[in-house]
Amino acid sequence: MTTMRLPELYERVSKIIPHPDWMLFEDDIAAILELKREKNAVILAHNYQTPEIFHGVADIVGDSLALARKAVDVEADVIVLAGVHFMAETAKLLNPEKTVLIPDPGAGCSLADSITPEDIALLRAAHPGVPVVTYVNTSAAVKAVSDICCTSGNAKQVVESLGVDRVLMLPDEYLAQNVARETDVELIAWKGHCEVHELFTPQDVRSMREAYPGVIVLAHPECPPEVVAEADFSGSTAVMSDFVGKQKPARVLLLTECSMSDNVAANHPDVEFVRPCNLCPHMKKISLANIREALETGRHEVTIDPAIAQDARRAVERMLTV
Ligand code: SF4
Repeated sequence: MTTMRLPELYERVSKIIPHPDWMLFEDDIAAILELKREKNAVILAHNYQTPEIFHGVADIVGDSLALARKAVDVEADVIVLAGVHFMAETAKLLNPEKTVLIPDPGAGCSLADSITPEDIALLRAAHPGVPVVTYVNTSAAVKAVSDICCTSGNAKQVVESLGVDRVLMLPDEYLAQNVARETDVELIAWKGHCEVHELFTPQDVRSMREAYPGVIVLAHPECPPEVVAEADFSGSTAVMSDFVGKQKPARVLLLTECSMSDNVAANHPDVEFVRPCNLCPHMKKISLANIREALETGRHEVTIDPAIAQDARRAVERMLTV
């Protein structure tokens, strides 16, 4: 029988990763841990990364806001972003002197793809003087023509920080509609959707409540407003994770990406996590194998046109001061 090389690490994930699967992951995990030391590299992993990445090799984990905040303090020479492309761009914006790698440059996002700088120019022309708040799930080029960025964790505070009556809040229509219910500021939305969260329906929630009596339902604000209305609580992935840690519900359903439930479940073995969930095909393009390859070869480096970077950084940094 093969001996386990990383038993202490496995202990943390033994509830969610079957032993045979872990044995397949160990070689890559051990190599990545060694490469990180050799190259003075850190791995930033989004909450939607699979447990072997999230718990096995990541140094910093969190939602988009946490990753953006923590990226500012990174002291390593190399940052590997285990997440999608706009997150790697944000890490690069905040660390222009460092090498930022994304293991698969094709890891995109339906929200980021839904809007261009030209769209924003047209919106500004149609709504003169109205400030533009863009979700961090956008390209650096879109951030560069925005006034300020936001995440699902700070959207309401960002909108209200501007001290105006109307705001263009782009590109997530559902996030804008969900935030609009919590603020007096009028929000003009765009038609972008997250292809993962838009799949949840109010009927999903009702069916799960019938099948799992007493289940507490938490919905991500990228879900349609009618789904959020059926939930017990709505918040960003960081807020959902805190909710589970503090409230310790006996049974919980997280209406978000599948790996999020897995990663939170690893930390709370006493809580029953009810599925369903939906997979993000973009997040799932990142694997142990391509993280290892990125560290071994230095591929794929994220670069941003300096003129775009300067303006995009301003929008992200303005958000971080809110
Ligand atoms: S889960 Fe949705 S918002 Fe997040 S990266 Fe995937 S498509 Fe984009």
